[in-house]
Amino acid sequence: MTETTVNTNNAMFSPLALTQALPFLPLAQGTIDYEVERRGEPGLIDVVLDESATKVMLVNNGLIAVPKGQGAAVDYDAAKIRPALIPGMYVRDDLARHRDITAIFLGTDRNGAAPRTHFVALDITRAVSAVPADEHGVDHGFGDDDGSLVSRAARQFDWVDLRGFAPHVGSRDAGLATSAVTVSIWHNRQRFCPCCGAPVEAALAGWAQRCTNAADGNRILFPRIEPAVITAIVDGSDRLLLQHNTAWKGNLYSVSAGFVEAGENLEHAARREAKEETGITLGEVKYLGSQPWPFPASLMMAFKARALTTDIHVDHEETGTAQWFTRDEFTNAMITGRIAVPGKATIARYMLEEWYGQPLQ
Ligand SMILES: [Zn+2]
Repeated sequence: MTETTVNTNNAMFSPLALTQALPFLPLAQGTIDYEVERRGEPGLIDVVLDESATKVMLVNNGLIAVPKGQGAAVDYDAAKIRPALIPGMYVRDDLARHRDITAIFLGTDRNGAAPRTHFVALDITRAVSAVPADEHGVDHGFGDDDGSLVSRAARQFDWVDLRGFAPHVGSRDAGLATSAVTVSIWHNRQRFCPCCGAPVEAALAGWAQRCTNAADGNRILFPRIEPAVITAIVDGSDRLLLQHNTAWKGNLYSVSAGFVEAGENLEHAARREAKEETGITLGEVKYLGSQPWPFPASLMMAFKARALTTDIHVDHEETGTAQWFTRDEFTNAMITGRIAVPGKATIARYMLEEWYGQPLQ
């Protein structure tokens, strides 16, 4: 266990999400009670929005609303930000007016000072209509100001990507945002039943969809998650194998990763990817931990593997180059800028730290 496991801003880290070797992962921090058993209650969203302690998180096109002026803070390592949380009763009219807003009941915080704070996410992606770019040349896709939350949202909030948001907020808000972004991206990408092609509507308080075709049994559809393996490969001298993929920007180096094929287990996927990318044969494969990576729908499952071979053969198509690093060589490569390491939201970064034995700068 390394110093990276100590994160005083995440004192409420959920024991449900704990993993052994990678105890802190920015996108694996669900601390609230999901109250899954309530999702089937008729009219649950309206009931919850009527309660005075309910807070609403806004999502637009995969981005999270934060108070105006806080958006730029994600570029500063030590900066703390918070989501823009709106009282539930402020958004009821908007929900009635914009049928394309998707509401998701995220659950109830039983840990905070105010007990029983409910959280609802509103995804306004499809409710906003395209408008010309603003004075900064950024097209937020918000409509003319009709006084509604949707039209005010562009002026009132900054919008940040989950990858920038999660490392800068507490565990509760990181968990809420990860759920909100993951589910809302799915709703926006799947508009029709994959079985019969009929339109779908939100169901189970936003966590599912219902096919509108009675002849198809009005089947209930759940979000599809795409499993991916990511593997820290070490040799007999405890050197770490790092690679640069041709699709990556700059001189980013990271560990082996790839999607799990249909009909394949995780360990096979880890060994196959290592072989394809670097020609390395893996022996023992050990589970490290996991976190969702909703860009758009991945679940990253991390392993540490012992290499049985050390000769590297890259394909030069997906993998441009790969190299074994001792810790001293790794330190030197970082200091000189020869390599850049994965960002603070990625599971890869914490896998590197687990091997390195201390936080990466
Ligand atoms: Zn259907």
